[in-house]
Amino acid sequence: MNKNIIIAGGGHGGIAAGALLAKNGFNVTVYEKNSRENMGYDWTDIFAPNALSVAGIPMPDKSLYEYKTDMTFYSTNEKKAIRQRVPEDELEIKMERRDIYNHIISFAEKCGVKFVYSCNIEKPISKNGRVIGIKTDKGDFYGDLIIDACGCNSPVRTNLNHGLGVQNQMGAFERFYVYRAFYNKATEKEIEDKYKVCLFPDNVLGIGWVATEDEYTDLLIGRFEPFTPEEAKESAEKFRQRNESLGTDVVRGGQFVQIPVRHTLSVMVADGYVAIGDAAFMTVPIIGSGIANSFKAAKILADAIIDDVSGEYTAKSLWKYQYNYYKALGSGLSQLATVKLLLTRLTPNELDYIFENDILTWREMTITANSTSLKSFIHIASDMPKRGIAIVKDKALLKKLLGVGEDIAKVVAVCLSMPKAYDKERVYKWAKKYDNIFKV
Ligand SMILES: Cc1cc2nc3c(=O)[nH]c(=O)nc-3n(C[C@H](O)[C@H](O)[C@H](O)COP(=O)(O)OP(=O)(O)OC[C@H]3O[C@@H](n4cnc5c(N)ncnc54)[C@H](O)[C@@H]3O)c2cc1C
Repeated sequence: MNKNIIIAGGGHGGIAAGALLAKNGFNVTVYEKNSRENMGYDWTDIFAPNALSVAGIPMPDKSLYEYKTDMTFYSTNEKKAIRQRVPEDELEIKMERRDIYNHIISFAEKCGVKFVYSCNIEKPISKNGRVIGIKTDKGDFYGDLIIDACGCNSPVRTNLNHGLGVQNQMGAFERFYVYRAFYNKATEKEIEDKYKVCLFPDNVLGIGWVATEDEYTDLLIGRFEPFTPEEAKESAEKFRQRNESLGTDVVRGGQFVQIPVRHTLSVMVADGYVAIGDAAFMTVPIIGSGIANSFKAAKILADAIIDDVSGEYTAKSLWKYQYNYYKALGSGLSQLATVKLLLTRLTPNELDYIFENDILTWREMTITANSTSLKSFIHIASDMPKRGIAIVKDKALLKKLLGVGEDIAKVVAVCLSMPKAYDKERVYKWAKKYDNIFKV
């Protein structure tokens, strides 16, 4: 008999995994709170297009995307800029979020996936320690496996029984509270740094970006603490004083949202349950890009499900997904989470010092949605004499940098020691050790 797979929430990874499973004869239904017309945000996203082919999704029509220009990073005082240099064969594409959804939904439908829209999931339904369904405002739905693609605040993950070992809530400094809006473009002048990323703008722990497009200027304000519409307005005004392309009229977007910027979920599987995408914190922790990783995870997940010929979908059989995901992406991404932790420990002055003394260069800042490891940071070691002198001069900074080096080593060692086969006790012990590295 065909197995029934419930995808909780229309996250990117869930839809992509659903398409792969439906193609392989599974009976797949996505339950999504938004209506079909309201799927996705009213703005653009950047992602690595190779991830589509990993998940077996064709490239969208060329008219729907363009290649993204390099980002220029600024520290707090904006005195020094570092422009990344993304190699041509690694360039990411920029696409409207709604077009991404149109593309993957129509592909999934062709593969046989069914969608139930305007259906708000309240919590999981469990029986004898196994997740067996979802409770929604349209009734209860049962399946052989629940794939949680409900985003970082998933009502499924956050309401799972503690005994299942899956972390329910996020901790401090693990998400960005974001305001994003497209403003009218206030100048016709050619802007040199079209995609400007500011670290600790206005001395606030967080980031901001100002992307000058042909028809509008895209502003994003991201902070580790929630902020009010008034604070967003004030911050936008300060950005406006330094960026002549940023107009005053919001033409699109203008919402508050959240992005996980943390290490990957330590236990992503339970009996009858598995998490993917933002629900499992698969974003690149420094920049919050998660679309490409979700697509790549979809392939790993679908393979593990198809391989479970018993059709029982237990934590034990689904562990293969977690293990292979960590090997391919999770371990490297979690190393990047330690670099994010470093950012939260730096003062604005220290960050300016790092920029002004070339302790970070374009090589390290060439972090893209395709960055799944610290490979761009390897060059730090090669340029060490010059950078080393600048670092050693500042004892407090040196201590913080050594601390992050220690954390990276711990992440590498702990990820290497992840149990290959599922054993509840060993897995929980491992998860505790791993989560402890990131405790602040
Ligand atoms: C402002 C902003 C900019 C971003 N820019 C980029 C970018 O440029 N590139 C990139 O790669 N990533 C970007 N991201 C991150 C990206 O959105 C996610 O990492 C990616 O979409 C993977 O998350 P997801 O699809 O699993 O979850 P989500 O995008 O959160 O999708 C979850 C889905 O579940 C649904 N859902 C939630 N709760 C319920 C419920 N109770 N009942 C039913 N359905 C529910 C939601 O409606 C949604 O459709 C950005 C995020 C934000 C907020």
